[in-house]
Amino acid sequence: MIKIFNTLTRKKENFVPLKDKLVRMYTCGPTCYWFAHIGNLRTYIFEDILKRVLIYNGYKIKHVMNITDVGHLVSEEDVGEDKIILASQREKKSPLAVARFYEKVFKRDLKRLNILGPNVWIRATETIKDQIELIKILEKKGLTYIIEDGVYFNTSKLKTYGRLWPKKMEILPGKRVEMTAGKKNPTDFALWKFAKERKKLVWDSPWGKGFPGWHTECVVMSVKELGIPFDIHCGGVDHILIHHTNEIAQAEAAFSKILARYWLHGEFLSVEGQKMSKSLGNIFTLENLIKKGFDPLSFRFLCLQTHYRKKMNFTFESLKSAQKALNFIYEKISEKNLNEEKKKKLKSNLLKESFLKAINDDLNVPKALPLIFEILNNQKLSHFEKCQILIDFDRVLGLKFEKAMKIKIPKKVKKLVLKREKLRKEEKFEEADKVREKIKELGYFVEDTKEGPKIKKIFNVQAESSF
Ligand code: AMP
Ligand code: ZN
Repeated sequence: MIKIFNTLTRKKENFVPLKDKLVRMYTCGPTCYWFAHIGNLRTYIFEDILKRVLIYNGYKIKHVMNITDVGHLVSEEDVGEDKIILASQREKKSPLAVARFYEKVFKRDLKRLNILGPNVWIRATETIKDQIELIKILEKKGLTYIIEDGVYFNTSKLKTYGRLWPKKMEILPGKRVEMTAGKKNPTDFALWKFAKERKKLVWDSPWGKGFPGWHTECVVMSVKELGIPFDIHCGGVDHILIHHTNEIAQAEAAFSKILARYWLHGEFLSVEGQKMSKSLGNIFTLENLIKKGFDPLSFRFLCLQTHYRKKMNFTFESLKSAQKALNFIYEKISEKNLNEEKKKKLKSNLLKESFLKAINDDLNVPKALPLIFEILNNQKLSHFEKCQILIDFDRVLGLKFEKAMKIKIPKKVKKLVLKREKLRKEEKFEEADKVREKIKELGYFVEDTKEGPKIKKIFNVQAESSF
C-alpha cells in the first residue's frame, strides 16, 4: 500500500485510485516564457518519482501535463502583463514563437533528467473554446460578475472556497495587497480578461475580446483529458494558496465535484540559502549546470537526497558531492572481471522489501538511497546479482544504472590488462605500472582483487576547473 501526504486533508493517506489499477494524474506544466530553472525542475523530478513509484507498484498511469502559453500574468493577483507577451517584446518574436521555443527546451530538459514524459501534452491556447464553455457554466450558476477588467469568479458565493488552505490561512484574504478595481472580494479571480490595448493572444468570447485566466486553463485541460474527479493533481507549494485553490473552486462550482482526490505539493529549492531571483543573479538552468561540467543526472541524484516535502538548499558543493557519489556508483556497476562470471537470474531480492517500504511511505526516497551502497558493498552478492537489484530499483530512481552496466570494455583495454598481468607475474612491476597508466589514459581503471584484475570505466564528467 502506498501512503502519500494529501494537502487537501493535510494527512498521510493510503492511496487508492478510483479505477482499479489506473491512476489519472495531472501536473501543472511550465509557463513557456523563459528557461525552466532548477527550482522548477526539482518539482518535475518529484512528480516523476511519484509516477515511477506508482508504476513500480503495478499501476498504469494516464498522465497529463499542460503547456501554459497564455494567461499567466506577472502577478498571481490577476494584474500585470502576460509573461509570454512580455517575453515576446523582449525577444522581438511573436508570443507563440516564444512559447514554442521554450516548450522545446523544456522537453529537452525533461529528457536530460530522465523524466518520463506525460501521455498527453495539452496547450492552453488550443483549448480556448472549452474554457469559454466552462465560464458560461459558472455564469449561468450566478457565480461570476463583470468589471472593466474582465469576468471574475465571486469566491464569496462558494462556501467551500479555500479548501486547500491550512486553518491559519482563513485570515489570508485580508493579507492580500494588490486588488483590481471593482473586485468584490480580495480572493476573487479572473476567468476571462479583456484585451483592452492588447493585440496578440486574444480571442472572441461572449463577453468581448480577451484571453482566459490561468486557473481556468488548468481546470479545463485536466477535466477534458481525465474526467472529474481524477486521482492526483500536483505542483509546487506556491500553487496551494491561489492557483490550485482557484482550480478547485471553479471545478466544484461548475460540476459539484472535487477536481482531484489527492493533491501533492513539492517544496521549494533555494540557492546557497537564498530565494532564486533574477535580481540576485542566482537563477540556474540545467544548461548552466551542464556548461559547468555536470551530468544532468547528478542534479537528479541531488534532488533525490531531500524528501520532496522538505525545503532544499542547492549549493555547488552539494552538487559536486552528488556527482562524485554518482560516478562512484557508475564505476562500481561498470566493473568487469576478465573471466566473466556466470549470469544467474536473481531468485529473491531481500532488499526489495526495505526499498518498497521507504518509497511507499510518502515517497521517502532519501531513506531508500543508502540501500544502493549497502548492495554495492555486500560481500555475499555477485556483481551480476548486485546489478540486477540496482537496475530494478532504478525503475524508480531513474539514474540510468543499466547504461553503466552495459558498458563494454574495449578489446584494446582488455589486451593491455592481460599484458599487465603477464608482466606482474614476471615481476616486472615498473613496466606493469606503465601499462596501468596507459589503461588509465584510455579511461579505464584496473583493480587487483582476489578473483583477479577488475576493470572499471572512469567517470569524470565534472570538470573541476569550472569552479
Ligand atoms: P511555472 O513555470 O512558473 O508555472 O512553474 C513550474 C513549476 O515549478 C510549478 O509547479 C511551480 O510550483 C514550481 N516552482 C517554481 N519555483 C520553484 C522553486 N524555487 N522550487 C521548486 N519548485 C518551484
Ligand atoms: Zn496549473
